[in-house]
Parts: sequence; structure tokens; C-alpha cells
Amino acid sequence: MQASERLADGYRQDTDTLAAETSEAVGTWWDRTEGLGPFAPVAAAAVAQANRRAVGLADRYLADVLTLARGEAVTVFATDAGLYVDGRLLRRSLSDQPRHIATVVARNEPLDAGRAALRRSMPRHVARGVRQGGTCPICSPKNGTIVPADADVSSHKGCACVVVPIV
Ligand SMILES: [Zn+2]
Repeated sequence: MQASERLADGYRQDTDTLAAETSEAVGTWWDRTEGLGPFAPVAAAAVAQANRRAVGLADRYLADVLTLARGEAVTVFATDAGLYVDGRLLRRSLSDQPRHIATVVARNEPLDAGRAALRRSMPRHVARGVRQGGTCPICSPKNGTIVPADADVSSHKGCACVVVPIV
């Protein structure tokens, strides 16, 4: 396995873990409140925090790949990260939801935030495009396909697939 593939694998595992932990935390909180009263604001805060972490993981993943390839430290900051931590929006999507929906939202949100952060920062740093690393059933037919860095890849909800920049 190439070093960049290893980094992609590590990144995918980290975001997967983050998504699973967020979902579990929201599920536990749902059980305590039965989805009522303080559930939505507290769950929204937990998801917002997870999204922020997901954007941080995405930044670090791209920075690590670029640093490795170029032999000099590269810093990556996803812009508009605030988009994914809109508490009001999150609160609305978590309000009055049955447990299974709330936990799915909590899982998908950080995955979506990380993917969106990469889609934003890839074109600024990568000229030669990205290779799709499709591991989920929807994306696996496209595994290995090379597309422009700004392509809207793996754009379905809750996708945990990772693109690998070609550097
Ligand atoms: Zn996918």
C-alpha cells in the first residue's frame, strides 16, 4: 500500500469512529430524554462539535498527504467550516425525531462535514485530480476512478468513502 493510501485509510477510520461515537452519544442522550425537551439543543451541540472535529480531521488528512508528497510542511484550512456547525439548523434536524432518525443524522453529519471540507480545499491544493476510494456499496463501482479535484464525488448522504489526492 502506498503511503498516501495508508493516510487515506487512517483518515477513513478516524472519521468512521467519530461518526459512530457521535451517533452513540446522541442515542444515549435520546434514551435519557426520550427525544423531548433538552434533547435537541444538547444533541445539536454534540453534533456541531463532531462536525468541527470532522473538518479538522479532513484538513489534517490533506495536509499530511501533501506534506508527505512535497517534503515540506503544508497547512490546510477548510474555509466556511462554520456552515457545518450551524446550531439552529442542526437543532431543527434533530427536533421531534424518533431515535433511529436522530442517530442517523448524528452519524451522517460529521461524515458530510468532512467530505464537504475536502471538496472545498482539494482544488486549492491539488492540480492533478483525485482518485476515488469507494468502499461503500454506492461508491464502490467508481473505486479508483480519477476525477478533477473539484468534482462532486461521493456526494450521497452518510458516505464514508475517501478521495486520495494525486500529488
Ligand atoms: Zn459512498
